[in-house]
Amino acid sequence: MELSYKKQNIYAVASEKELAEIQAYSEGYKSFLNSSKTEREAVECGIALVKAHGFKEYQLGDKIKPGDKLYYNNRGKGLFILKAGKADLAKNGVRILVAHVDCPRLDLKQVPLYEKADMAFLKTHYYGGIKKYQWLTIPLALHGVVSLKDGRNVNICVGEEEGDPYFYITDLLPHLAQEQATKTIAEGFPAENLNILVGGIPAKDADKDAVKLGVLKILNEKYGIVEEDLLSAEIEAVPAAKANDIGFDRAFVGGYGHDDRVCTYPEITATIETETDQTVLTILADKEEIGSEGNTGMQSVLIRDILDEIAKNYGVNSAVMRANSKCLSADVTAGFDPDFASAFEEKNASFMNHGVSMNKFTGSRGKSGSNDASAEYVGYLRGVFQRDGVIWQTSELGRVDLGGGGTVAKFIASINIDTVDVGVPVLSMHAPYELISKADIWSAHKAFSAFIK
Ligand code: MN
Ligand code: MN
Repeated sequence: MELSYKKQNIYAVASEKELAEIQAYSEGYKSFLNSSKTEREAVECGIALVKAHGFKEYQLGDKIKPGDKLYYNNRGKGLFILKAGKADLAKNGVRILVAHVDCPRLDLKQVPLYEKADMAFLKTHYYGGIKKYQWLTIPLALHGVVSLKDGRNVNICVGEEEGDPYFYITDLLPHLAQEQATKTIAEGFPAENLNILVGGIPAKDADKDAVKLGVLKILNEKYGIVEEDLLSAEIEAVPAAKANDIGFDRAFVGGYGHDDRVCTYPEITATIETETDQTVLTILADKEEIGSEGNTGMQSVLIRDILDEIAKNYGVNSAVMRANSKCLSADVTAGFDPDFASAFEEKNASFMNHGVSMNKFTGSRGKSGSNDASAEYVGYLRGVFQRDGVIWQTSELGRVDLGGGGTVAKFIASINIDTVDVGVPVLSMHAPYELISKADIWSAHKAFSAFIK
């Protein structure tokens, strides 16, 4: 019997076979990451993955029967994946996995295009919590849709293909930054200065705003749109960089949007691959980064509607089914960073390569705003993870009273479902290029698979 508790480094204890599995698993993840830079693209990729494994599109009101493999596309921004099981739903409830597919980014304003000093720019309004200076002087891509009055959507994606141009936000040269250098980070980088450079060649025969007109001409030729069409557009500036291995030994993956694709991807793979009699509902939600609001966020009643539909089709009482359901709310947590060690309390920090991490609670200032999972539920999950040999750890988001954060866990718990946060540790969270461990995402896949068995 081991009297003391000790965390384990997966890379240190994995067999040769497991080490190869870890590397192989990350290849699928990197390609998912590269083709899912927006919530819409993540939903499209998720649908492609489940469709390839026989999942069929479901509409609210459709019949559901044991054995069905279904997906529900919520407005192109959220995805529900349902594996209807044989087990007694009243007794076992539903096994629910949740992650979010929106990421911090720069959204274009509705009237974004203007010209100044013979250059054309797009105005942005940032989405989610960002450190604004990190978005200056990096290659950016533009992704999104322009919705036209006749109901058609025009897709835009520039900056990803070989040979595409990038977009760019400028910063002040250090030679002239003496004033900037004395400001706080919050004051030094005003949000209204996050303007994206998109053009510099004036249109011929224009007397005013000729560069802007030149850009509009290109947009019109390429997409058939005019400036007014941008009123009903959702275009996101995201880092153009591709996901890549980090380090001589390739232990890590760098990329945009690990939060929360690094939980999204293993939820999808676990849902597809795990043989189970349980009914599994995997939810990929939008709008987490801005409070889970709206009809694509986890505060929407849609989750209840879908659970009610499942219960109705199985002929069980929805309230009873929910009371016996269980949820892993999978969202990233902060990895311990030795260069910022004072932000953490080491006994309760997530260490890179030590596995998927459980946050019994999140929140800030005395756990405020947190779903604090019960000891009983955490105990149950310890048993589940041990049974399948999952290496995992627990943590909280940084040192007490330094800050904090919330997740969607509380919204699921609020409909009477046992829920806890379990996610992959990330370094440089919310930066344009974040970092995760390949061992940790592999451990997340194993943990999610064990949970839905
Ligand atoms: Mn997140
Ligand atoms: Mn986040």
